Amino acid sequence: MQKTIQKFDFLVVGGGIFGITAVIELAKRKYRAALINPDSIPHHLAASTDVTKAVRMEYGSDTSYFKMAEICVQRWKDWNDLFNTKLYHEVGFLMLCKSHLNSEHQHFEKHSYDNLIQNGYRAQRLNREDLKKQFPGINSLAFEDACYNPDAGYAESGLTVEVLKRYARSLGVSVCEGQTLKEMVINSGKVQGIKTKEGTTFYCDHAIIAAGSSTPYVIPELSPYMKSTGHPVFWVKPENPMHFNASRFPVFTVDISNSGWYGFPFLPKHGIIKFAKHAAGTVIHPDKDDRHVGQENIRDLRTMLQYAFPELKDAPLVNTRLCLYTDTLDGHFWIDNHPDIKGLSVSTGGSGHAFKMAPLLGELTADMAEGKSHPFSKRFRWRHLTSDSLQAEEARCVTDRRL
Ligand SMILES: Cc1cc2nc3c(=O)[nH]c(=O)nc-3n(C[C@H](O)[C@H](O)[C@H](O)COP(=O)(O)OP(=O)(O)OC[C@H]3O[C@@H](n4cnc5c(N)ncnc54)[C@H](O)[C@@H]3O)c2cc1C
Repeated sequence: MQKTIQKFDFLVVGGGIFGITAVIELAKRKYRAALINPDSIPHHLAASTDVTKAVRMEYGSDTSYFKMAEICVQRWKDWNDLFNTKLYHEVGFLMLCKSHLNSEHQHFEKHSYDNLIQNGYRAQRLNREDLKKQFPGINSLAFEDACYNPDAGYAESGLTVEVLKRYARSLGVSVCEGQTLKEMVINSGKVQGIKTKEGTTFYCDHAIIAAGSSTPYVIPELSPYMKSTGHPVFWVKPENPMHFNASRFPVFTVDISNSGWYGFPFLPKHGIIKFAKHAAGTVIHPDKDDRHVGQENIRDLRTMLQYAFPELKDAPLVNTRLCLYTDTLDGHFWIDNHPDIKGLSVSTGGSGHAFKMAPLLGELTADMAEGKSHPFSKRFRWRHLTSDSLQAEEARCVTDRRL
């Protein structure tokens, strides 16, 4: 039997980082807001549910993402204080380059470094000797150049969503776990509410779809512009973590725009070092396809460890996961109102790089839903993309900049 829940000003579908930051901002603006998500928040299959996400200002020549990240680095520290919990760890960010920084192969690193220096940050350029002395866990002979930026690090993503869920509840948000959007109730071109698979109807004036990689399935008119892609994540257990503790091993990229590889320092809480690939990935359906990480990916990992971190080449692999990007064809987020249906908006399109922007995502989404513009919102608007659209995120290792 269909259960009906009281009417809300805003109903947010999806309790990942896009949804939870949106509902918090809306509650702060005094709207009656609710959030729904299957099972529990953080959801075990959500992209936002992980141990770490990199927080970096390094965005190549893209000064807009640089500025967004610059604001977010400070706000992550404010969140650490506000929640009295260390969500953000400022352990630094190290870009390893196989070629000289000025070579055409290191465009991402070169422009990222220049942006940091031009904006007064303490970034350092390291040669092989420096690298060997400062970061003994790295095979310095494999890298001709490197840049280290202390004003960066990682966020504990799953913990962040957990803490933000509690905060949302404290602001009066109805957080409804175990509710899965099945269909929207639309009359005369306007959203009236949504029905869930679990048999509940939520009435609302405005629905915001932040369902991550499920979004193009919930709103099929988005499927030409974005897709769900799987990306491998690996946890290795070092025999001796001494050279891989955060004090000697920051968040790092391994010639990322040419290899896709990046990773994090040893995490004492989990006893592991996490590696992942920021590359093209494989297109997979979020609910139907297998999320298994294959042998080819594992061989790829071993090859990278062999040349970059020899001490870890045979370290046991204790966990693998295929994590999903909501991949727009140009790599920019998608935060806008539906062009035809009133009272319907979308906040998604993280494309593998949105978590760090969590402290800005809520206001971007709330401003959009209120019909306001935001200094950073223009490139996230509803847009026409084609297979010729180029990937904007310069760290990403994709052929010809196309997905
Ligand atoms: C491997 C990997 C590494 C990454 N590394 C970084 C990084 O280092 N730095 C960084 O900044 N970003 C990184 N990202 C990107 C970042 O994690 C994502 O952009 C962000 O977490 C996406 O958040 P989301 O809220 O859109 O999606 P999700 O976190 O996936 O949340 C979507 C939510 O919607 C719910 N949902 C789905 N369908 C329905 C439905 N029908 N009804 C109700 N709810 C529904 C899901 O259960 C889920 O909880 C990475 C992503 C991946 C996959």
